[in-house]
Amino acid sequence: MDGAVTSRATAASIRGPDGNVSKVEVISYEPATGAEVWRGPVADVDDTVARARRAWPAWAAQPLSTRMELLRRFANEVRKDAEKLATTIAREVGKPLWEARAEVDSVIGKVEVSIRAYAERTSQRKLDSALQGTMAVRHKPHGVLVVLGPFNYPAHLPNAHIVPALIAGNAVIFKPSERAPATGEMLARCFHRAGISAAVMQFAPGGPAQGAAFVAHEGVDGVLFTGSANTGIAINRRLATRPDKLVALEMGGNNPMVVWDTPKLTDAAALVVQSAFATTGQRCTAARRLIVRDTMYDAVMSEVKTLADRVIFGAPFDEPAPFMGPVIDNAAADGLTESFLYLLSHGGRAIKHLVRPDDKLPFLSPAIIDVTAMKERPDVELFGPILQVIRVSDFDEAIAEANATRFGLAASLVGGTPQEYNRFWANVRAGIVNWNRPTIGPSHAAPMGGIGLSGNHRPTGYYAADYCAYPVASGEMEQPRAVIGVGLR
Ligand code: NAD
Repeated sequence: MDGAVTSRATAASIRGPDGNVSKVEVISYEPATGAEVWRGPVADVDDTVARARRAWPAWAAQPLSTRMELLRRFANEVRKDAEKLATTIAREVGKPLWEARAEVDSVIGKVEVSIRAYAERTSQRKLDSALQGTMAVRHKPHGVLVVLGPFNYPAHLPNAHIVPALIAGNAVIFKPSERAPATGEMLARCFHRAGISAAVMQFAPGGPAQGAAFVAHEGVDGVLFTGSANTGIAINRRLATRPDKLVALEMGGNNPMVVWDTPKLTDAAALVVQSAFATTGQRCTAARRLIVRDTMYDAVMSEVKTLADRVIFGAPFDEPAPFMGPVIDNAAADGLTESFLYLLSHGGRAIKHLVRPDDKLPFLSPAIIDVTAMKERPDVELFGPILQVIRVSDFDEAIAEANATRFGLAASLVGGTPQEYNRFWANVRAGIVNWNRPTIGPSHAAPMGGIGLSGNHRPTGYYAADYCAYPVASGEMEQPRAVIGVGLR
């Protein structure tokens, strides 16, 4: 099964009257209506990199306090434009307005968190060394970093790389998702209005071709990527012979949620529905696989189904507000429908069917399918509102099922005893392991990343500071002082 969500080719060639390609553009569309949102030429990769290289040394030479002050001004610019930015996000990627507003809050919150993280994780330190000398540990920026953004959090996730990268003194080239250039442009303008130059933080619209060209460019010192595992692997492969380039990959997941003994069925169901269907299942940390103890199965699934049946899915600005918007585009909706049919025709049993009320628009209902009887379950990320359920009889089996994936982003245990949670925590392979909490909604104040196909051991979130600067160790003394104590004639 091809579970990967297919990307729509939005970097379209516009042909002039003579039939020659005169211009290449990025065009984004509102998922909820199909209306065009943004159109503009793709960035010139060589020019963009050359500009960043020229601008970087002066930015790196600014005092840290100046860079921090400019980023605080950026947060204020976002505050001023908050409603406009939220509306653009909601239009361009289809998420409900309330959720787009929460994304904007995360963009603002990222600044103070990143300032704290820089100070705590990459500040200067001096240690006493031998002979009254000093050992200093300081950090330097890498240079020009390209940030490749995903569509599902088109402002917050690229911003989660951009802000720490700028604080550390890097110049940034920001290539937003080709599905969300309007959001990217608006975010970039907030940096520029704050006084960070358009050469230090460049907005570079484009699609996969421009992304790949930036990755391969000699003038780029590192790639900060959030997106699918397939793209992450392509980037990693492209840079396999370039250990000199920094590569931070935040990729997808096939995340398990285990429901064990609990009397709190309504809360358990709310955690499941939130984890599986928030953002229409288009979150890297969304619960994809629900692993349920067989003695709890009927009671848990009845609550989950009842709640999922109440979920409103609709357009971002609908009243009453929907819980879920559409998926990103028709190609994604087609791919998810095919995936659901594949599961059904290979031994899955539908608990709640995937419904697409209008086949010209990408609205999908939440869907739940029991795949316990499937002989081989595809270990792919279904990036949408499809929850697969697996029934197990003992806790070891639950842990084995949770680990039956090449990914390793988020995992959660609902119910169980403290001892069971300890076993779960110790044995489950993931970068986020929660207890009685959703799989989604990672904290800014914690590292955020996964193992396996979910990342390359460079978590973002609070630990983004670590990959935005490299440590330099310096033994230092005001005057040369040295003697050779042995082995001289
Ligand atoms: P995607 O991989 O299709 O695209 C991400 C970015 O990479 C886009 O800017 C795209 O233009 C660019 N790109 C595509 N091909 C490229 C190539 N060959 N070389 C360089 N750049 C290229 O991802 P998407 O569909 O926009 O986002 C959804 C995916 O992101 C899901 O898999 C989701 O799990 C993942 N995600 C991960 C995290 C995390 O923190 N781990 C967070 C959000 C989303």
